[in-house]
Amino acid sequence: MEIKRRKTKKIKVGDIYIGGEAAVTVQTMVKVDAHDVKAVVRQIKEQEEAGGDITRMNVLDMESVKNFGAIKKQIKIPIVADIHFNHEWAIEAVKQGVDKLRINPGNIGSVDRVKAIVKVCKERGVPIRIGVNAGSLEKNLLEKHGGHPTAEGLVESASRHIKILEDLDFDQTVVSIKSSDVRLMMVAYRLFSKKYDYPVHLGVTESGPPRKGTVKSSIGIGGLLEEGIGDTIRVSLADDSREEIRVGREILKSLGLMKGPVLIACPTCSRTQFEMLPLVKRVEEYVDKLDVEIKVAVMGCVVNGPGEAREADVGIAGGRGAGALFVKGKVVKPVKEEDMFKELVKMIDKIVEERRGK
Ligand code: SF4
Repeated sequence: MEIKRRKTKKIKVGDIYIGGEAAVTVQTMVKVDAHDVKAVVRQIKEQEEAGGDITRMNVLDMESVKNFGAIKKQIKIPIVADIHFNHEWAIEAVKQGVDKLRINPGNIGSVDRVKAIVKVCKERGVPIRIGVNAGSLEKNLLEKHGGHPTAEGLVESASRHIKILEDLDFDQTVVSIKSSDVRLMMVAYRLFSKKYDYPVHLGVTESGPPRKGTVKSSIGIGGLLEEGIGDTIRVSLADDSREEIRVGREILKSLGLMKGPVLIACPTCSRTQFEMLPLVKRVEEYVDKLDVEIKVAVMGCVVNGPGEAREADVGIAGGRGAGALFVKGKVVKPVKEEDMFKELVKMIDKIVEERRGK
């Protein structure tokens, strides 16, 4: 059952698209000092390897803004400059070749300043993401909406920023309306999506350490995606940026919005008679690097495993000292416990080769 995605405007970011028919993209951020070009490039290359589609970097001064040019030359994925308040930094970032700006026009100080940013963005085909955040909602909107962030207040804030850009005849805009409150962000995005066809960048902000952040993001981002809302996503975790990408990609895969390898593993139970969890980890690492569609299973017992995982293309089920390799639910070979990983990988590689050859 395919998700019917909301129709949105198509926005070009570097050489990829956000919105329209484009696949949902996964974003992350640079988490090292923006002054240290080498460290930034190293981290972005890791993000590329992990399957990140877009990265973003915050800047604190003109010196780091001027690093965008050197960084851009050494990376493949589009980079977004995240800039607060300072129009000169925004203009310089665009001149340095960034692929998108994240800036809130209402916070720039004057229409003339925004005009100058929009001019350079138009000249170079650079889109803008408006990023509304419940934690920094304008004071007058807070007062108007009862003293605390509400979905209506957040959408009103987005509307204000959008209007500033539209008045300057600029519509290459992506919008995010984030909150650390999952339900608030969901209601706000729904409301926004009824009013506008701008593509949206989904995220639950400050979602926390990996376990909490993954749960919150899966509900917030995943729930909206399932309703057809969302064109690009970022999972914010207090963790390595590669983990944000992995979680983001898993959310998309779980909803059938991303093609690629899928790992099935049973939770284990009292029938399990071998050390299954280390095997699952090894298989996960192997499978995650594959670039073809394949379903792989690791199951805790030979009696139920192959049948329970019959939707998998290939799998291994363990027992006491030995297990069985199975294909589409049918056991094809008994395997010694120490050979389980090796034999599974051999069969995975065979299937991958066949699929690549097609
Ligand atoms: Fe338990 Fe076997 Fe099912 Fe795994 S496959 S949960 S070990 S019964």
